[in-house]
Amino acid sequence: MCGIVGYIGSKTASGILLEGLKRLEYRGYDSAGLAIINDGGLVIEKAVGRILNLEKKVGPIFGSATVGIAHTRWATHGAPTETNAHPHLDHSGKIALVHNGIIENYASLRKYLEAQGVGFESETDTEVLAKLIGHFYTGDNLEQAVRSALSEVQGTYGIAVICADQPDRIIAARKGSPLIVGIGKNEYIVASDASAIIEHTNQVIYLSDGEMAIVSREGFRTITLDAVPVTKDVQQVEWKLEQIELGGFEHFMLKEIFEQPESVRMCMRGRVNLREGTIHLGGIANYARELTRAHRFVFTACGTAWHAGLVGEYLFEDLARIPTETEYASEFRYRNPVLDDGTVICAISQSGETADTLAALREARDKGALGIGIVNTVGSTIARETDAGVYLHVGPEIGVASTKAFTGQVTVLAMLAAFLGRRKHLSPANFQNFICALDQIPGQIEKVLEQSGEIRRVAEKLAGRENWLYLGRGYNYPVALEGALKIKEISYVHAEGMPAAEMKHGPIALVNKGMPAVFIATHSSQYDKILGNIEEVKARGATTVAVITEGDSEICRQCDFCFTVPKTIEPLEPLLTIIPLQLLAYHVAVLRGCNIDKPRNLAKSVTVE
Ligand code: GLU
Repeated sequence: MCGIVGYIGSKTASGILLEGLKRLEYRGYDSAGLAIINDGGLVIEKAVGRILNLEKKVGPIFGSATVGIAHTRWATHGAPTETNAHPHLDHSGKIALVHNGIIENYASLRKYLEAQGVGFESETDTEVLAKLIGHFYTGDNLEQAVRSALSEVQGTYGIAVICADQPDRIIAARKGSPLIVGIGKNEYIVASDASAIIEHTNQVIYLSDGEMAIVSREGFRTITLDAVPVTKDVQQVEWKLEQIELGGFEHFMLKEIFEQPESVRMCMRGRVNLREGTIHLGGIANYARELTRAHRFVFTACGTAWHAGLVGEYLFEDLARIPTETEYASEFRYRNPVLDDGTVICAISQSGETADTLAALREARDKGALGIGIVNTVGSTIARETDAGVYLHVGPEIGVASTKAFTGQVTVLAMLAAFLGRRKHLSPANFQNFICALDQIPGQIEKVLEQSGEIRRVAEKLAGRENWLYLGRGYNYPVALEGALKIKEISYVHAEGMPAAEMKHGPIALVNKGMPAVFIATHSSQYDKILGNIEEVKARGATTVAVITEGDSEICRQCDFCFTVPKTIEPLEPLLTIIPLQLLAYHVAVLRGCNIDKPRNLAKSVTVE
């Protein structure tokens, strides 16, 4: 979940490492550290909190070094303190390690090492791996010592290692946590995420699980953990630098909310063809027959992606008439699910690295299911471990609270559902109607975004509230869940999302005077029902906020506050109705003084189970 950067070349390493850490800060940000090799010795600095704190501590002594490794941590083992921050050292103080992931058998390894007289400073699992490498190191066998140590550990890791005895190399390895080597001109950057690299080069190799790279100024070698050489293809990262910068916005989350007209457009570009009346999805083209003949789809995901999956479930059953269910990856993985070769498992993940989703995908594929991926990050592990898939193409998402990835995921699911529907029973006319509506969505999102100021004024009235309800029906039920998650994540208020009709089966007992109840109440098939649900909570004193279809004066009269969305077909409403809820969560969080892009306790890419 954290970020790793390593540099070897001819420039000042510490500057490049700190810049890289800042680009990765969104992934984990409770503490950070860096190590360089200077005059044959390691120099280390660490700090709790933001990268700026670390930067302030990095003195002139770091100036001349041209090799180093750095880390921004999202603590799993031990509090976010300076002692627990990475890099961690071996017992001799010559080897430094940064690590992303979890060493599951760290306790028994630590006991073993302690029995050998090795002392520990931190509470982390990572320090155990550093000490274990040192345990195998005899003075000239760094590569071998890293391999031996890794063969003893269970769990997940992306690591970068430097050693004062061998200042001409960085050793990197991975299992379960992403790692990339960026290839510059006589310089190389090892990183857990392309955003730390693209300022310097767009030529990269992606390490696979069980692979190691030995990187020097002259070049790099890749091997398996058993020392068998592997040849890697150099790939090109398409992201541009400006995509990972704020570009005048106050926060990445706001920037990404406002990018949605364009990101949804990018997601559909080259895929939806109105003139020919087709949807072309290159990533699944070779599997179109299998997907059409599948008798069941299982969407597996976590968090926001799970909510997108739930919209997908409605879309697939409605348009493609295929039985579909949406499963929390962490639950699905461990409950011995029934799967066969007629089932398609569809893993949805922005980063393509979500550990629970990846584990669920692997389990399902082992059981015979065909695996497809809906991910944003090109070349990510899920993308590589699926039989086929569709990329979101919405550009990098930096804000921890997902926004444009959600609308991208729903857009992909809508395209897939319509694509399969057309191959099954959907008539050409209904299909054409659907893609015309889809084509209108980016322009319609623009209209919703114009209400940001209005939404801010409503947020000012409600920001002090600690308990919120989000209610929707049908396609807008997953939107209620996602709206509640957004406000929880960044405003730290308690919010519950649920199907509007479920209220009276218990949760209505929560409603008291002034409690904000946010309804997604568009003018669609369950309109009359949701009107009734609004009355129920109003009668108990709730403050009602509704997302309504433009021109609906009736609900406007009934509710305290309304935001409007343009009319679209019901299956596509989530792409519009989620927008005001994202903005509401954003404005409430700003008014409450929360850290929008780095909410407490969260990290962007959840690579631990
Ligand atoms: N498990 C390690 C720790 O707690 C690494 C966490 C991370 O991925 O940042 O230090």
